[in-house]
Amino acid sequence: MSHLVAIVGRPNVGKSTLFNRLTQTRGAIVSEESGTTRDRQYGKVTWLDREFSIVDTGGWVVGSEDVFEGEINKQVEIAMEEADVILFVVDIEGGTTDLDDEVASKLRRTKKPVLLVANKADNYTQHYAAAEFYAFGLGDPMPISAVNGSGTGDLLDAIVSHL
Ligand code: GDP
Ligand code: MG
Repeated sequence: MSHLVAIVGRPNVGKSTLFNRLTQTRGAIVSEESGTTRDRQYGKVTWLDREFSIVDTGGWVVGSEDVFEGEINKQVEIAMEEADVILFVVDIEGGTTDLDDEVASKLRRTKKPVLLVANKADNYTQHYAAAEFYAFGLGDPMPISAVNGSGTGDLLDAIVSHL
């Protein structure tokens, strides 16, 4: 079975944008499977000689524009059960919110690898802002831009190093 990478985080941090970048730029097939109460957005990513599946957990919630706190926590629980590597996406522009803190405290309890992805670092002058995310206790934040692709090569290297 192929390895599964899950993208988690509060709404609007850029989870779906990152999912689309990682899948589309590698010519992956994106498919949507309907569940009874949830839709899951799965794709395939190829990087160097490695292949893995990726799931955008935003798609785990129907009508994800108005996500309840409980739903996000549920997504994180599912990711911690099902995924081999978890990408915890936060937003350099928006900074840390209570919801980020809540997700971080859940993720600190898993033994699975968690990569702290500091998204919306569209230019290098924004990279310093990623330092605030050290407070999560989840290791080094990786500044990336899902929109322009900056940092995503390093992120992919880090992902496959855990597979
Ligand atoms: P999600 O709710 O976490 O899935 O977030 P989305 O992928 O839907 O993105 C939310 C908003 O953030 C959209 O307006 C995106 O265009 C924007 N966004 C996502 N990634 C980036 C990025 O790297 N840089 C900037 N400037 N905006 C981004
Ligand atoms: Mg989304």
